[in-house]
Amino acid sequence: MRIDIITIFPEMFSSVLDASIIKRAQEKGKVRIFVHDLRNYSLDKHRKVDDRPFGGGSGMLMQAEPIFRAVEAIKKKIKAKARVILLCPQGDRFTQKSAKELSRRKNIILICGHYEGVDERVRQYLVDAQISIGDYVLTGGELPAMVLVDSVVRLIPGVLGDKNSLNFESFEGNLLEYPQYSRPAKFRDYAVPEVLISGAHNKILAWRKLEALKRTRQRRPDLLKKNSNRKE
Ligand code: SAM
Repeated sequence: MRIDIITIFPEMFSSVLDASIIKRAQEKGKVRIFVHDLRNYSLDKHRKVDDRPFGGGSGMLMQAEPIFRAVEAIKKKIKAKARVILLCPQGDRFTQKSAKELSRRKNIILICGHYEGVDERVRQYLVDAQISIGDYVLTGGELPAMVLVDSVVRLIPGVLGDKNSLNFESFEGNLLEYPQYSRPAKFRDYAVPEVLISGAHNKILAWRKLEALKRTRQRRPDLLKKNSNRKE
């Protein structure tokens, strides 16, 4: 997979892209990630990429032209179809399902907005999808892009060592993950549930299933509704 990110703050990405699983995924050749400075696509001699909104109002908008030019240049370079995504609080809510869908794609181009947002023509004529990471407003699309990249990259086959860890984690089958404990079996006065140290594999599986259900019912009953609405 190849991911291209367009931003006015390319320096924000290095700490996330050069660490942990995302770093290893790149080293293993599972993903190539390129961060592009939008200002390089400005036609203005001062590399300006924003302007005032027509009709007045507070703040500045990111102009359409540099964003169009950046996306066109990237597409020309990769010579293949790419999904162009605008990070935007008005977009479709990002979920584990959307991360899975994106992890199967070959090329993704992410556009990070800033200031008051982007010229509407970017939405109308350039992007294939708009994604929001939640109902709150951030200063820019950089953190949302990092969230998206992190959740997508770990789903690329071969990126995580143990693929079972993906099968049993939260949101799989619309359930939250069951509680987990590690050594020691007794810490201060707190003991781990007996069943987990019993060595009885079937009992452990049954306990985990029940606990996942309990936890989901308590914290995210909406997920269980999704299960019951699902057609066989
Ligand atoms: N004025 C815009 C509005 O009311 O919809 C908000 C603009 S926000 C301050 C600047 C940029 O941050 C957006 O263009 C977008 O790229 C990014 N952004 C902010 N919140 C986001 C969210 N929840 N999900 C995805 N991107 C977000």
